[in-house]
Amino acid sequence: MTHLNYETRLPLGQAVIDQFLGLKPHPTKCQATYVWIDGTGENLRSKTRTMEKVPKKIDDYPIWNYDGSSTGQAQGKNSDRYLRPVASYPDPFLGGNARLVLCDTLDHEMQPTATNHRQACAEVMNEIRDTKPWFGMEQEYLLVDRDGHPLGWPKHGFPAPQGKYYCSVGADRAFGREVVETHYRACLHAGINIFGTNGEVTPGQWEYQIGTCEGIDMGDQLWMARYIMNRVAEQFGICVSIDPKPSITMGDWNGAGCHTNFSTAEMRAPGGIAAIEAAMDGLKKTHHAAMKVYDPHGGQDNLKRLTGRHETSSADNFSWGVANRGCSIRIPRQVAAEKKGYLEDRRPSSNCDPYQVTAMVAASILLEN
Ligand code: ADP
Ligand code: MN
Ligand code: MN
Ligand code: MN
Ligand code: MN
Repeated sequence: MTHLNYETRLPLGQAVIDQFLGLKPHPTKCQATYVWIDGTGENLRSKTRTMEKVPKKIDDYPIWNYDGSSTGQAQGKNSDRYLRPVASYPDPFLGGNARLVLCDTLDHEMQPTATNHRQACAEVMNEIRDTKPWFGMEQEYLLVDRDGHPLGWPKHGFPAPQGKYYCSVGADRAFGREVVETHYRACLHAGINIFGTNGEVTPGQWEYQIGTCEGIDMGDQLWMARYIMNRVAEQFGICVSIDPKPSITMGDWNGAGCHTNFSTAEMRAPGGIAAIEAAMDGLKKTHHAAMKVYDPHGGQDNLKRLTGRHETSSADNFSWGVANRGCSIRIPRQVAAEKKGYLEDRRPSSNCDPYQVTAMVAASILLEN
């Protein structure tokens, strides 16, 4: 019987984990960890099974089931839900033949569950695939301890005002870099298109970018990158908040978004700026509909963040501009100078569902008229 508490056990436990995970991976068998979005539409779950060998293609992974009554996705009497594998990635935690398997969730009649927005997104992406739609998403997040207190914040009072934290270095201003770097390396191992990372404006806040990804791959990769982030942070004994405006940050602190960059082949070609500017009409038309799906609570979360302050636009009005971070849509200065490239939708909340966002952006621009 040990009397060590959880905090003390962690560093000791790590050495034990290293010993067993350091064993030569099994030569043929595959540990497949199935990952899915639960009934909150923002949290992820996973469970693992053994396969005799690594499946060669996604359809070779069997459909599996789970207890939806324990994930907010079913009632107890009719609780089985299905996991349908849609994408697989080398597992950076177990190594060897192990795979992380992203799944979408289906009810007992094989219909998407309420928080499965992948199927509808895939339909949009399929319809517009000839335009070669590319996305890049900037995931902002806050590192917090298990009580939800941001890393680097004093237990009483507040840190020094924002200004010195963005892209900072130094133990008095950059909090949690070990988590950031471990996640970066783990994503590279998993074959995720991680574009980069930076420290953000609020202390304890960071960002990573995923992309570019074409079509449905954007949602798949961002969800898997979020899963990897949660697992990495768990190993450090800390948590990741993608709440766009946690209550402790309600004062003069930047909230968290998930800027979504978009281009078509036409926008990327010489003179593509015309197609980028033409996209604003459709985006303006769907502004209110978009705000409803840019967070998982019908736009309520984003109201706390899109105030028109802290590098945001107001949630009520659509606006666009070159190099302007106070607009709904920004055309980066370099894009305006080169007269081709992409646009940035700054409205999505950090806890958005990338399937809903990418479908909305693409449909607004390409299917609205
Ligand atoms: P910001 O200046 O807004 O902070 P970042 O450097 O954080 O921009 O992120 C840029 C994002 O733009 C990346 O996710 C990248 O994948 C994406 N991106 C770059 N080029 C394109 C393109 N042609 N189409 C879509 N997304 C792109
Ligand atoms: Mn069981
Ligand atoms: Mn960025
Ligand atoms: Mn940012
Ligand atoms: Mn941005």
